[in-house]
Parts: sequence; C-alpha cells; structure tokens
Amino acid sequence: MDARKSSGAQWPRVIAHADLDAFYASAEILDDPSLRGKPVIVGGSSTRGVVTSASYDARKYGVRAAMPTAAAQRLCPHGIFLRGRMARYAELSHQVRTVFYRFSPLVEPLSLDEAFLDLTGTGRLLGSPLDAGRALKRAVLDETGLVVSVGLAPTKMAAKILSDMSKPDGLMAVGPDDLAAFLEPLPVSRLWGVGRVTLSRLNQAGIYTIGDLARIDPAQLHSMFGLSGLHLYELAHGRDPREVNADWQRKSYGEENTFECDQLADSAAVRDCLIAHGEALGRRLRADGMTARTVTLKLKFARSLGEGRYPVITRSATLEHATDDGAVIGATAMRMLKRSRPTEKIRLVGIQAHNLKHADTSQLELFDPVTSLALQKRARLNRALDEVTRRFGSRAITRGLARAERAAPTTRIK
Ligand SMILES: [Mg+2]
Repeated sequence: MDARKSSGAQWPRVIAHADLDAFYASAEILDDPSLRGKPVIVGGSSTRGVVTSASYDARKYGVRAAMPTAAAQRLCPHGIFLRGRMARYAELSHQVRTVFYRFSPLVEPLSLDEAFLDLTGTGRLLGSPLDAGRALKRAVLDETGLVVSVGLAPTKMAAKILSDMSKPDGLMAVGPDDLAAFLEPLPVSRLWGVGRVTLSRLNQAGIYTIGDLARIDPAQLHSMFGLSGLHLYELAHGRDPREVNADWQRKSYGEENTFECDQLADSAAVRDCLIAHGEALGRRLRADGMTARTVTLKLKFARSLGEGRYPVITRSATLEHATDDGAVIGATAMRMLKRSRPTEKIRLVGIQAHNLKHADTSQLELFDPVTSLALQKRARLNRALDEVTRRFGSRAITRGLARAERAAPTTRIK
C-alpha cells in the first residue's frame, strides 16, 4: 500500500479493531514464563468443559477455542491444560483497556480481549493509520506484556476481518480506495449478519463471495431477505455507517459454568458456584465502574433433549437499588434458585447482571443513614478485596470464597 493511501488523509473514518492473541493462554504464559513455547490450553481441565483459549503452540495440533476438552486432549495429549483464572484475565483486560483509552476516548470493548477504537482525527498526533496501529501494538506490549493484533479500516466490519487475518502479532490496514477490492474475494459468510440460514440461501442463488453479492441486483436481495438484504448489499460494497459505541453501551455481564457431574439444586457445589459467580460479577462491575439492577439466574438441566441440547430456564429479579456487590448478586441468585425449587439435576448454572448504570457513589446518599453506612462499609470492603485480588490474584481472597472460586471455573463470560 503506498504512502498516500495509508496516510489516512482520505479516510472518512479510521476504525481500529484490536484483538489480543490467544488471550487467556498468553496471560498464563505471561505469569509463568516456563510455559513459553509449550501447548497451553485454558478452560479444559474438566472432561465436560470446552477450550476457551489455546496458545499458538497448541493450535499446531489442531486445538481451537470452543472445542470440547476431550477432543483437545485427544489431539494434544501432552498439552498443558489449565482451568483459567478469570479474575486475573479481567485485571489484564482492564490494563489493556487503559492503554486503549490513551489512543481514543471512543473504545467499544466486545469482550475481555477485543475492542474497537475510533482513531478518526488522530492523524496529527499518531501519523498514518498504520503508524497508529504500530504505536498501539507497541504500547500494549510494553505496558502489559501481551501481544495484540490490529486491523484498520474505514468500517468496523473490515477492521475486524483485518485483525483476524493478520494474526498472530499482526497489523493490517485497508483504506477507502482499496476496500471494495479487499472484500471482493472473501467468502460471503464473512459479512456481518450472514448466519447459517442466510448463507445457504445465498449459496443456492450462486452467491459465494462478497464480490458475488456486490454484483447482484439489490432488488433481488430485497425480495429474498427484505431490508436486511439491502443492508447486506451495502456491507458488500464496503458501506457501513455503524459507529464505535463507547463502553457504557455494554448491556450485561455474565458468568456461568458446566459441572463435571450433574448436581442437585440444594448441593453445596451449586451454592458455591453461585457465590463465586456473584463475586466475579461484582469484581468485574467494580473494575468497569458499573452497577447492575437486574440479576438473572440461568439453569440448564441434565436431562438431554438430544443433539446436545438441554432444557434451560431463567429467572430474573430487579433489585431496589443498583449494585456492584458480588455478595448481593450471589444472594439474589440463591433466592431465585430456592424459589424455583428445581427437582431435576442441574448441568450448568449461570448468573447475568444487567440493567446497567455507571457507579455513582453519591447515590449512597439516597439511602437512609443506617443503610447508607452499611453500604459504604461494604463498598470499602469490596474495594479492599479488589486490591488484594489485583496484587495477589483471586486465590488470595478470603471471606470463605477460595473454595467457591475453585468450584466454579467460569467457562464463558461476556
Ligand atoms: Mg483474541
């Protein structure tokens, strides 16, 4: 790409997608350098679990995220399987995000390990989009020890495709003049909004690449898919006005785990997991300066419906006041569990915290003095615990939680 195109001068918007390489596995290697160069697989010590992250040395054996642990063990029997330490990953993610915010106030985290940044208008400070991407990668590496891959484009979708293609330790930029040519040969499934059903209908119509779709009469797409067909047409031409939505638009936080053995609802394992999930959610909310008012309990039962499906129920409760206190979240989930009195064995429990608001300590004044004092005490205790976690890792947490934390390795968070 020549200097003129990558200068950013002609870019209507400069959007970066930054994605940490094999984040959880890399975090484990960062904390234990003796793991470097070895096949590290996180999320998979339980035979029922799924792989949440695999180092590139593990991927050589075909191990991938979302693969059942049992399959990963067959592919890579000498792999180093770790349960994962969500509190540590959340802490590192927070450090990385702090670096992102130095590059732009418009940061949209998609998960712990990836985010969009709007770098439009940073040219004078950071140089061309490629220069900005290079500086971002260097800052993340210098300050956290983690490797991030970065894609830069005038649209979010293209930026995400580019960071993905550039991995590992990648950096790619495509300017507005080259966008259509870049998208043209890619499989049409790369377009946002093309799921399995849409894909098979597109393929039936002879549309396999983004270029195929871009050449179709939009009226035909409209008759096939309605308005979303026209939307796909726009995307295929590299036109996508979606903006980088800053952090506060996040909708929910969730933690859940699948048990190694199915559990009765009143078992200690279920209780310990709900306590641990509540505490993990509290820590994550506090780390992001957020509070939640609604707590949802999710239960998946052990009775198979076939094809890997199980009955799922959810129960929600809205609290009188928004909270970032993990004990309150866990207790609310416990209350809902007791009230729903499930008689079947449980395969998975999860908690989601939503109805989010920015934490605002001045809100404490809304409570009566006694409640306010108690809440302030709890808030201080939680802050102290966060500090201990930051310094010594989640295993240092007291308050009887250590056992619960071990009982509930989270297999999915969002
Ligand atoms: Mg990643």
